[in-house]
Amino acid sequence: SIEKLKKLTTLPVNEFINKNNLTNYYTASRDILHKELLSDVISSGTKINYDSKIKKVEDLGGKIKIINENKTIRNCEKLIIANGNSSSPIFDRISCSPIANDFMTYRSAVKVQELPLKISADTIYLFLGKGMHIVIYPFFEDLLNIVMITKNNIDVVMQKNKRNIEKGIYSFLRAQDWHSWSLYDSKITLNLDNSRPIYAIGDAAHSIKPHLAQGASMALEDAFTLGKSIGENNTTESVHYAMNARKKRIDKVIRNSTLNRKIFHAPSIISVFRDFFLEKTNGLSQLDNLKWLYDYEV
Ligand SMILES: Cc1cc2nc3c(=O)[nH]c(=O)nc-3n(C[C@H](O)[C@H](O)[C@H](O)COP(=O)(O)OP(=O)(O)OC[C@H]3O[C@@H](n4cnc5c(N)ncnc54)[C@H](O)[C@@H]3O)c2cc1C
Repeated sequence: SIEKLKKLTTLPVNEFINKNNLTNYYTASRDILHKELLSDVISSGTKINYDSKIKKVEDLGGKIKIINENKTIRNCEKLIIANGNSSSPIFDRISCSPIANDFMTYRSAVKVQELPLKISADTIYLFLGKGMHIVIYPFFEDLLNIVMITKNNIDVVMQKNKRNIEKGIYSFLRAQDWHSWSLYDSKITLNLDNSRPIYAIGDAAHSIKPHLAQGASMALEDAFTLGKSIGENNTTESVHYAMNARKKRIDKVIRNSTLNRKIFHAPSIISVFRDFFLEKTNGLSQLDNLKWLYDYEV
């Protein structure tokens, strides 16, 4: 029954934050974050060209040529490539090879009272199932965000999990109006010329699986590092050096997200050990394993 859901563990985030003197954890609506960042960009005098999709970027040595899809051409001296996890490459020094997978993401937002489960407003819930996991978290006023990542399509996965999921929750999940999209994995190789002021940040520079929820965070850290280094009037080589120095941290994030995907979606036999381990280990010590991630100054 809903009252007797099997709880594997609780991760005491606030205790972890206080113990390590970290910034408070909070979730922000994407729209609010976007508005905040945009107002900073506009107040810095940056001009944004909307509706101008870039087809190709060419480095001609002295200048950089940007060719738009509508065939207009612009030249610039410096360039930051931040086109995300885009399937169409725009610069020949960034290669991106897709890695096939059958993961899907589903998202839905509901009011707290619609959930057939009593939850606390300050808690993030993670449910682990067969080839699926669900994250439920309060994100804006009385709204909850529900994100479900499934290996395979929702109908197949729900069918497989029918017996494992409590009836009320099962019907609730089935009744949702899900927005869905495929998860693309890729291997990105940067072959940037350290003597040229062309930089890459965020998903354009590295592909991070969403299972550690760090893609946007790493994109923000990249942007901060790059902005700081350029702002200090460093040489092009030093700016590249600062960006290359981030590789160790990003690679660790990539490894941990990949591991989380395996743990969250573990097949039946392995999931028994996973559940046993989670039940027996102290939540705070689990969080301590992530100190390298959160107790970090960019
Ligand atoms: C299901 C899921 C859950 C996630 N959850 C989290 C989370 O909880 N926490 C977290 O930190 N991260 C999370 N992420 C990852 C996060 O969304 C990305 O890592 C982040 O958005 C990357 O930012 P970016 O600026 O590099 O790229 P994007 O946000 O993809 O921005 C790229 C921009 O470039 C534009 N663009 C692309 N091609 C062109 C072109 N040719 N010309 C002009 N413009 C172009 C696009 O329109 C887009 O606006 C999640 C991702 C997924 C899929």
